[in-house]
Amino acid sequence: MKALVGAALIDGSGSDPVPDAAVLIDGDRIEAVGPRAAVTLPPGAEVIDVSGLTLLPGLIDCHDHLSEMRYDFMSRWRLDMPATLQRLRTAKVLEDTLHSGFTCIRDAWGLDAGFKQAVEEKLIQGPRLVLSVSFISGTGGHADRVTPSGHRNAFNWDPMLPDGVADGPDRVRAKVREMIRAGADVIKFATTGGGASRPGLNPHDATYGRDEVDALVAEAAARGRKTMCHAVGGAGLRMAIEAGAGSIEHGGYLADDPDLAKMMADKGIFFVPTFYVYTLHAEHSPPHMAERAKALMDIHRESLHQAMAAGVKVAMGTDAGGFVHGTNAKEIEILVERGMTPMQAIQASTSTAAECVGLDHDIGTVAPGKLADLLAVSGDPLSEIAILSDREKIRLVMKGGQEVVNRLADPPAR
Ligand SMILES: [Zn+2]
Repeated sequence: MKALVGAALIDGSGSDPVPDAAVLIDGDRIEAVGPRAAVTLPPGAEVIDVSGLTLLPGLIDCHDHLSEMRYDFMSRWRLDMPATLQRLRTAKVLEDTLHSGFTCIRDAWGLDAGFKQAVEEKLIQGPRLVLSVSFISGTGGHADRVTPSGHRNAFNWDPMLPDGVADGPDRVRAKVREMIRAGADVIKFATTGGGASRPGLNPHDATYGRDEVDALVAEAAARGRKTMCHAVGGAGLRMAIEAGAGSIEHGGYLADDPDLAKMMADKGIFFVPTFYVYTLHAEHSPPHMAERAKALMDIHRESLHQAMAAGVKVAMGTDAGGFVHGTNAKEIEILVERGMTPMQAIQASTSTAAECVGLDHDIGTVAPGKLADLLAVSGDPLSEIAILSDREKIRLVMKGGQEVVNRLADPPAR
């Protein structure tokens, strides 16, 4: 047994911090949690002194792309490096992301099932993975990346991934089955264009019909999979909500129609706004993408406010993988800047995120019976949220009771 003692504990549930806490760990799970005085440490337990630090559940990003490196054409079509190099770099990204305090990532396109198996076999280090493998849209939709003349990439961007294009309810059902066959834990699909779509496919353009979306959601549910829907605005956004998608990804224009947030709350649909990627698009993307990102900034913030007021569960997701890796916690800062309290933003990145990805029975809070996925940082993130994105301040990262980062002996961070 191991015990982490002396830290201020933010347990992820939204409760007030527990000063001078103790967390007792047996193997990969948490055995007991509470104020130090209330937790009996068995003789022989290894005591790890984390006093002066803040202890939190490992962080969870509900929307990343760990295998993406850049947004330019050469990179997105996998033309700029040999396939093996791409894979090895991705493995490095997994390790680095774990070391930044993210013990679980829902990958929303790009990672094949082999990465998850390699992490589980401990062949490589990485966060717990919830994979969509690829993602689904209709012809001409967000998953259908073609040249301006309408030609498909013969290698479908990546020969390791199933093609994501399907039209009509029957083919959509078959495509869901194909994703599951390839190892998908969650079914990702798109009902609208998006910030990164080609010119002419805009965030308000609906790219599926209701019959197709109903078939997709029903088939996923029949196979025990949640769905996550890329939907930015317009009729496609409403359609995804009416059909009961598990989560709305992006949802920038949700506030265009005040009914939508209420419908999401009633149906228990999660909102993953992914602000970070739009700040990156606004600064670094080609003009048509930067314009879209800038155009939705204000309404996107308003959409968050409406969702929170309506009681929608907001979960943290970055979608930042096409630009940068290992800085996922920036999204937590942005959530605070856009109107969440630091505690709400931490909840969005722990307990609510765990629920969103379907792993709340195992992770997301520091509680007896949960897996010991933990993060200790120097300083108080409730008074300075940016601490979570400062590598120097991340002193301990534990995944399933195993220390993957231990810098407790380092000199105190500035
Ligand atoms: Zn994405």
